[in-house]
Order: sequence, then structure tokens, then C-alpha cells
Amino acid sequence: MTLSRKLFLSYVVVVLIGLAVISVATAFVAPANFTESMHHMRGSGSGMMSQRMAELDAQYETAFRQSVNNALVIAGAAAVLAAGVVSWFVSQQITHPIRSLVALSQQIAGGSYRQRLKLDTHDEFAELVESFNRMAEALAGTEAMRVQLIGDVSHELKTPLAGIKGYMEGLQDGVLPATPETFQLIHREADRLQRLVQDLQELSRTESGQVALDIRPYPPEAIINPVVERMRSQFADKVIALEVMIPHDLPPVHADCDRSIQILTNLLGNALQYTPGGGRIELTVHRDHNSVCFSIKDTGIGLSSEALPHVFQRFYRVDKSRSRGSGGTGIGLTVAKHLVEAQGGRIGAESNGLGTGSRFWFTLPIA
Ligand code: ADP
Repeated sequence: MTLSRKLFLSYVVVVLIGLAVISVATAFVAPANFTESMHHMRGSGSGMMSQRMAELDAQYETAFRQSVNNALVIAGAAAVLAAGVVSWFVSQQITHPIRSLVALSQQIAGGSYRQRLKLDTHDEFAELVESFNRMAEALAGTEAMRVQLIGDVSHELKTPLAGIKGYMEGLQDGVLPATPETFQLIHREADRLQRLVQDLQELSRTESGQVALDIRPYPPEAIINPVVERMRSQFADKVIALEVMIPHDLPPVHADCDRSIQILTNLLGNALQYTPGGGRIELTVHRDHNSVCFSIKDTGIGLSSEALPHVFQRFYRVDKSRSRGSGGTGIGLTVAKHLVEAQGGRIGAESNGLGTGSRFWFTLPIA
């Protein structure tokens, strides 16, 4: 049954109950009152006179009942008509936004996210339409990200695959010699593919919040020392000075130690990669309000003001060909950002421009 029919029936039921109550009241109370009032006005007679008056009273009462009944029938018909008009009007008010919402949800289900609804009222329907619009907005954002991700991933996969295919064709045609060097080149492209797939898995896990964090209080040294120990030889190989400055009075941080080590390794690894030999990298830690800030400052290639806002976006690399050559996927900083934020911290990058070095930092809350 449609909403307008339900409303109409409910109004009719109310009207009928009202009419029944009025009918019962008028049938039992009004005639008695009427007769008593007549008696009161006329006073009492005697003999023939009183019999004649009783007959007249009976006629008056019948006429009175009839006129009341007529009035009730007319009032009932008018009330039912009014119920019809009002229920139609009210149901229009209710069904119009509902129908619009149904149409919009069908459009969204069909993959079109652009349409929005507008309602010039200030009631619950306006609130519903508002939150529906917000949901459509969020879905449109997710869809745009999905499309972008598919585009980015296929673009990233294309390059190493094209490399492998090119080398294989070269081997088949005899253009490339079947030497260990050629196989090494193919192996390098396959390696790149593997790294990309691993990074994508990590990205998907962190972006969907699937990384289980084991958050406990740790001294900042528990995060810094293993990373520095492990990477010291790489700094020495590239002839880059690594300076570590940790004050002694630092409070413990509330963090997942392994994940924090992963974040620091990533930032320190980037500093190492984007700083030419002979440069210097400073790893400093200081207290910043309710958190501890880990800062990695390098004397490397730096970042332009155009590149700076994008470095934490997935697949973003300032110099795609150079970064790709060194195996960079542009995912490391995106994962680091997710991991820092999942631990309640913040992450950022600063640079005064190309060639001026850069500073990457992240915070972890104090335990
Ligand atoms: P990648 O795997 O390419 O290094 P990241 O997400 O770690 O990906 O970094 C994204 C981009 O940010 C890099 O390609 C590089 O252009 C830039 N970048 C990161 N760290 C530094 C740094 N210390 N100095 C200069 N540029 C950097």
C-alpha cells in the first residue's frame, strides 16, 4: 500500500472514531438535555394540555435528532474530504524527497556519483538529504581514488614488463647476446616488479588499516639504535657523514617499535639515496609538547616548493626516471605517513628548494 493511501486511511479512521464518539454523545446526552430544557422553559401543565405538550416534545426531539444526524453526515463527509486533501498534501511532502533519494541512490548504484540533492526545508528530511549527499561525496572520492590507483599501478607495472619483454625479444632476435649480463638485466627488471608488488601489498595493508600495531612505551633509543647500527656501513660506503644527537632526558614514546623502526629506516634510506657522496645527514630527536620529534636533515638534492606538498602521495617521485632506476616506487613515504598517523603521530617535510637539502620529521606521542 502506498504511503498516501496509508495516510488517507489513518485520517479516515480518526474521522470515523470522532464521528462515532460525537454520534454516541448526541444520541444519549443531547436529546435528554434538550427535552429537559424545553420542560424547564414551559413549566408543567395538566390533563389534555400536558399530553399535547408531551406529543410536541416527542416531535421536537425527533426533529432535533434528525437535524443533528444531518449535521453529522455533512460534517463527516467534509472531514473525509479534508482527510483526503490533507493526506495527499502531506504524502507529497514526504514522498517527494524519498523518491528523489531513491532516484539518486539508483544513480550511485549505477556508477554515477556527480548528482546531489537539495531540499529547502529545515526538517529531518533535510538532514537525511544532507547526510546522503555527504555519503555520495565520500563514495565519489573513493571511486576517484580507485580509478587513480588502477591507473597508477598499471603504469608502474608497464615499465619493468616492457623492459623484460624488450630484452626477451632482443635475445630471440639475436640482437642481444645470451650472456650473464643480459640475464642480469632481465633479473633486475623482475626484481623491480617484485619490489613494486611488495610495496603495493604493504600500501594496501596500511591504507586499509590492516596493520596490527603493538603499541607500548619505548625509549626513543630503542627505535634509533637498531636503524643506525644497521645502516652505518651504507653511509660509510657512500662517504656520507651520519650524526646522531639524542638528548639523555627524553621521555619514552608510545609506539609500535618495529613499525617505528620501519619509518625511520625509510626516511634515513631516502636521505642516503638523495644525498650525493661527501654530504652529511643529521638525525636529531627532541621533545615537542606531548610528543617526541625525530628529525632527519640531509645536505642532498632538496625539494622544490612544487614537489614538497606531494612527496607523501602514493607513486609520487620528483624525478621518475632517476628514482625508478634506483628502484624507487614512490610508495615508501605514503606507507610511512599511514604508519605514523596510525600511532597518533604526525609527519612532514621541509626544504628551502632544490640543491638546499631537506628535512623530514615525524612525531610519536609520549607514553
Ligand atoms: P621512493 O621509493 O621513490 O624513494 P618515497 O615515497 O620514499 O619513494 O619518496 C617519494 C619521493 O620523494 C622520492 O621519489 C623523491 O623524489 C622524494 N624524496 C624523498 N626523500 C627525499 C630526500 N631526502 N631528499 C630529496 N627528495 C626526497
